[in-house]
Formats: sequence, structure tokens, C-alpha cells
Amino acid sequence: MSARLVLARGKEAPQFRRHPWVFANAVDALVGRARPGDTVLVETHDGRPLGRAAWSPASQIRARMWTFDADERIDDAFFRRRIDAAVACRVAHPSLAGQDGMRLVHGEADQLPGVIVDRYRDTLVVALNSAGADKWRAAIVGALLRATGAAHVHERSDSDGRRLEGLPPRAGTLHGDPPRITELTEHGVRLRVDLAEGHKTGFYLDQRDNRRLTRDLAAGRRVLNCFCYTGGFSLQALAGGARAVLSVDSSAPALAAAQASLMLNPGLDAGRASWREADVFELLRELKSAGEKFDLLILDPPKFAPSSAHAERASRAYRDINRLGFQLLAPGGLLMTYSCSGGVSAERFRNLVAAAACDADVEAQVLQHLQAGPDHPVALAAPEGAYLKGLLVRRP
Ligand code: SAH
Repeated sequence: MSARLVLARGKEAPQFRRHPWVFANAVDALVGRARPGDTVLVETHDGRPLGRAAWSPASQIRARMWTFDADERIDDAFFRRRIDAAVACRVAHPSLAGQDGMRLVHGEADQLPGVIVDRYRDTLVVALNSAGADKWRAAIVGALLRATGAAHVHERSDSDGRRLEGLPPRAGTLHGDPPRITELTEHGVRLRVDLAEGHKTGFYLDQRDNRRLTRDLAAGRRVLNCFCYTGGFSLQALAGGARAVLSVDSSAPALAAAQASLMLNPGLDAGRASWREADVFELLRELKSAGEKFDLLILDPPKFAPSSAHAERASRAYRDINRLGFQLLAPGGLLMTYSCSGGVSAERFRNLVAAAACDADVEAQVLQHLQAGPDHPVALAAPEGAYLKGLLVRRP
């Protein structure tokens, strides 16, 4: 019999709304014994069952809901059902057709808290970021192989999230013989991806459709791609006929990977691309002093605010780079600006970009709100899952 997790009186509202997280301060008592990752029955203080969850005593998120049906068993068949549904949702989506890199399982939004699975051609890269996900590793891998027929499964459970769950980092082969480096074709552009050492599971798959938008907007423009990592936006800008593309990152290996990817695309004019290893904050100031102007500017910085505790400092950083971005924008120029900080809401980000335009003394219009692609769904009940937000802004 599973242990019962009794919620404190008046603390059930999130679960009534189908929010997947039970915070420590919402727990009244654990009745019975449970080890980390074990399934517990979640109930209200007066014994009404709410669903089943994975117990995680080390984390402030004490339990993550697997199901809001208290009669549903959490077993191998449960993971097969959930993973089949997640894969079917990607297969059915027209904008994912023909893509060989995509997120197959996006944690809470696919009703699999803590489980991330990305597909890179015939290799799956799995990150198990919670005690419950960690416990069900074998069931998850079995269900993935059955649903996808993938040849290889590599584990990259090395995120900060695991530390908060009291779990050590883990990486290695779970099935087959995963390649260290693979190649993707993203909207017609070939990209080299380092599955062993690359960021996240190897690549920023969440920006796929925004990179395509860059291609659609790039014709004839002088482009500046800040925080370019392995050059995804830069290569799409070249594919879209940009006049010149300057790409900046502080990481020499990322820049080397970007240039290696460019060589995989003989149809792109490498002569129009230049690469700078630099701190973006410094380089933007330098370009401004030199009087440079750009027609399309991409700002896709790293996560300045992993949680709301970092929001203040992060906000200053976002405001600063966006001000510099506006100052470098030619009239009629476009700014694609992003935040992937969970701790900065879409509204706050929009206000920061507005303040930055004011600081730069320019008017600007929002042409589009941007987000991650449809392989990164967001649970309606848990809007904080919408970590990536962006704006396409035009300077008239
Ligand atoms: N736009 C990329 C992802 C960007 S990830 C894509 O589409 O794939 C953020 C990048 O910012 C990383 O490559 C990191 O090396 C770089 N970075 C972080 N801080 C930086 C700084 N101060 N100056 C320049 N690059 C920085």
C-alpha cells in the first residue's frame, strides 16, 4: 500500500487546479513510509483523494503529481501510456514534420514531471531531474524504445534541478552506443551537435522555430547575433540571404562548433559570416562607440535569473543589453530579444524591454510575441513552465 501524503487544510488549491507541484509548506503529514521517488497517494486534510505523486523529501517541491486520478496505478504501463501520448502529439504536429531534432517529452507539460527527452536523429537524450523520474528510469527507457524505435539512448541528468532533489548528477549510455557528436537538419540547415558536452541535452531545440523566423526576416540585412552559442540563428540568417552576419559568444568551443556547422552547408556563403569571441556587454558598447548599426539584432542570453530570487539583478542585465541593442539598431531595424529565465515573467520582460527602449530614446513596436516551439508545450495549470519568452520588436 502506498503511503498517504496529507495536505494541510486550505493548501489544496493548486492541486484542485491540477498544478503538479506540492510544496513543503502545503504538507501536513506523510502517513506510512516512503523512500525518495516512491509513489504516494495525495489527499486533502479530510481524506479526499487528489491523485498520485512521487515523493521527494529533499526538495522544497515535496511531491510531483503523476496523475490526478487517484485510481490510476503508477507502473510500467503508466509510463508507456504517457510516453506514447507525448510522442504522438509531436508526430501529429505539422510544424514538426521532417524535423530530426525535437523535444519528445517536456516534463510537467507532458504529465511526466522531471522527465525530459530530446530526440536527435536516432539517438534519444534523457534528463531525469526529479526523484520520481530517477526511480522509474528503466520503465521510462523501455517505453521510449518501444514508442520511437530509437537506436541509442544517452542520459544527461546533470542539471541543477537534480541537486535540489538530493540526487547526484548522472550521465552515460542507457541503450545502444550513442554517438558523441551528431548532425541535425533544422529547417534545411545542417548543424553539428555535441550530445556529450553541449548545453542542455546538446542543443537549444526550443529556439527552432524562432531561428526559422530569423531566416524569413534576414534578406539583405546586416545581422548581429549575440550569445550565438553554436550558431543556430547565424546559419539561418545566412540561409535567409543576410548581407553580413556578425556572431558573438564568450565560448571559444561554441564558436568553433558554429564554424564547423557552417562548413557542413556548402550552400551558405561563409564569406558573409564573422565570429567574435567576446563578452557581449563589452562588445555592444564597443560597437556603439564605433557608430556601428545593424538591421537585425538577436539577443538570446543565458538564464540570468534561474529563479525569482535572482530577478532583480537579472532585470538590470536584460535592461542593459536591450538598451545597447536598441542603440545599435538602424531605423527600420528589427530586434529579436529573449529571456529564458524562469524567474522573469513574460510581462516583466516586456516591461524591461520597453524601459530599455526608453533608455535608448527610441520608439519601438512589437511585431510578434515569441516562445518555444510546439514540442515544448506548457501546462495551462502551470504557466511558470513558459520559461522562454521573446519579442520581435521593430524600430520605426
Ligand atoms: N542562441 C543560441 C543559444 C544561446 S545560449 C542558440 O540558438 O543555440 C547562451 C550563450 O551565451 C552560451 O553560448 C554562452 O557561452 C554565451 N554567453 C554567456 N554569457 C556571455 C557573455 N557575457 N558574453 C558572451 N557570451 C556569453
